[in-house]
Amino acid sequence: MEIPKYAFFRGKIVPYSEAKVGVLTHALNYGTAAFGGMRGYWNSDDEQLYLFRPQDHFRRFLNSARMLLMNFDYTPESLTDITTELLRTEGYRCNVYVRPLAFKSDESIGVKLHDLTDEISIVAIPFGSYVKNETNAHVTISSWRRVDDNMIPARGKISGAYANSAFIKTDAVLAGFDEALVLTQEGHISEGSAMNVFMVRDGVVVTPPITENILEGITRRTAIELLRLELGVTVVERPIDRTEVYLCDEFFMTGTAAQITAVTRVDYRPIGNGVMGPITSRLRQVFDEVVYGRKPQYQPWNVPVYKEVTEAAA
Ligand code: PMP
Repeated sequence: MEIPKYAFFRGKIVPYSEAKVGVLTHALNYGTAAFGGMRGYWNSDDEQLYLFRPQDHFRRFLNSARMLLMNFDYTPESLTDITTELLRTEGYRCNVYVRPLAFKSDESIGVKLHDLTDEISIVAIPFGSYVKNETNAHVTISSWRRVDDNMIPARGKISGAYANSAFIKTDAVLAGFDEALVLTQEGHISEGSAMNVFMVRDGVVVTPPITENILEGITRRTAIELLRLELGVTVVERPIDRTEVYLCDEFFMTGTAAQITAVTRVDYRPIGNGVMGPITSRLRQVFDEVVYGRKPQYQPWNVPVYKEVTEAAA
């Protein structure tokens, strides 16, 4: 992985080597941080880097931080401006991943959320695909359970909760799978280690509702909208039983890193015909067009990084 040259740290853009914290940092010891993750897509025809739905990402990010008793003066708009400035400073002309982090920065002992200092950092790195087999992933059902809303709220992207995701991912990968689906305490399908999930049964797309301990994914929201408006298919939010995954016609996962990943096998059983199905395939195409800024009606989701440059050149 490439190391960034710059970081937004303590209120300004600094060389990445200066964006450092001490080992006693509260967030590092107790997981008292919240993060975000968004992508920027480089469109070489437009000579433009499009940040995908940054304001929606930053809205969720600030909400996650609020759950941890953090209050910032930043807004989704101001954080978006900082991010585009950071990306211009890096000068990236490739696909990127942006990682904002809100963390308890005190170097002190004591498990709590109150009376601590909150800081925000942002870095961006060049980024390609995340799941190895984006078109034919083989998943297992994890023996771990998803963190419950009353344990660590999954709707917040809270750093400490990602130990749960790491157990899920590593056990799956070490056992030879690409990913794992994780169940709620009640035994319903919740999501993947860092992606939301969808299945197709009898032409209807089904995804777990936001009350099933899922992260309220921006890609999930995007997929629901594109499925309805561009593919004209019905999307239903309802709990999914474990064995429905064995019987469904198509299955896919959505996430900023995973994008739209087709799942074609679950626990050695083929899903549908064992190859990516038509709805998944079409959704992947439309999603690609949208994120690269090639569908004018969705342009409001694409925030151009090199705006000034384009306007000056025009
Ligand atoms: N679930 C979890 C647990 C995640 O970490 C992610 C990645 N952010 C997602 C779902 C997908 O969310 P998004 O589409 O907003 O990236």
